[in-house]
Amino acid sequence: QLLGNAGTVEDVVAAAKVGAEGIGLFRTELLFLDSQTEPTIEEQVALYSAVFAAMPGKKIVIRTLDAGSDKPVPYINAIHEENPALGVRGWRLTRTSNDVLNRQLEALAQAKKVSDVDLWVMAPMINTPDEAKDFADRVAKLGMGKAGVMVETPAAALHADHVLAEVDFGSFGTNDLTQYIMASDRLDSRLSDMTTAWHPAVLRAISIAATSAAKLGKPIGVCGEAAANSHLAAVLIGLGVNSLSMAPSAIAEVRGFLSTVDFEMCEKAAQAALAARSSLDSESIAKEILGA
Ligand code: PEP
Ligand code: MG
Repeated sequence: QLLGNAGTVEDVVAAAKVGAEGIGLFRTELLFLDSQTEPTIEEQVALYSAVFAAMPGKKIVIRTLDAGSDKPVPYINAIHEENPALGVRGWRLTRTSNDVLNRQLEALAQAKKVSDVDLWVMAPMINTPDEAKDFADRVAKLGMGKAGVMVETPAAALHADHVLAEVDFGSFGTNDLTQYIMASDRLDSRLSDMTTAWHPAVLRAISIAATSAAKLGKPIGVCGEAAANSHLAAVLIGLGVNSLSMAPSAIAEVRGFLSTVDFEMCEKAAQAALAARSSLDSESIAKEILGA
């Protein structure tokens, strides 16, 4: 499945235009960032309803607020943190702003009631099975459809057999997963040679979690930047990923490239990349196998 990443209704329209089969990641931060105070439930219902209406009947994965770290929302992340990437961000905000997340879930449930969307709700920065269960319980209580988690911390990836057991699906956030596996700030361009999902250490974490997902019979996708790189996308499929979500502008190229390879080639490229010594080696050997 090739899906679009979106943060606005316009992005959803753009994804529909290029033939995306749905939305694999709708980032809800923009609505919160555009406002001086928390958007009301009514304002949120209006946005979510517009998003659902832009892709009627399709799968839409909506992510709950991922405030903090590289996406600070001033009125929510008010306390100074020494290490915000490792601090109270994403679903961890239930520790400090629990009502904000409950209101968002309530707004999503209201918007779903009046639409025919195939709604999948996803929480960011889930680290433990208990967090995953807490999220899934809240989604179930609101009768909202599928509940899933971003797999974007090393703990979630390496412990995915337990984390994914609590939910319906997973989605690799390769931007953060790479940052945390490689201990390298995703925003620091001086470290860009290290913040690449081509690194075999990142691919190994993905392989472990994808294998767990397959054993549990749960779908797992990728919604980080890695999905928009055609060759890496093929490697991710070879590692067992079921869907790829990317900026709408990347869909045509990735679709075109994937139509030139078969699953066996993807698996072979994935195994070679996993065994490589460096990210440069894993990229070059995978490309060779994929005939690029
Ligand atoms: C990711 O971390 O890969 C991801 C998709 O989420 P974001 O970039 O919004 O943190
Ligand atoms: Mg992330």
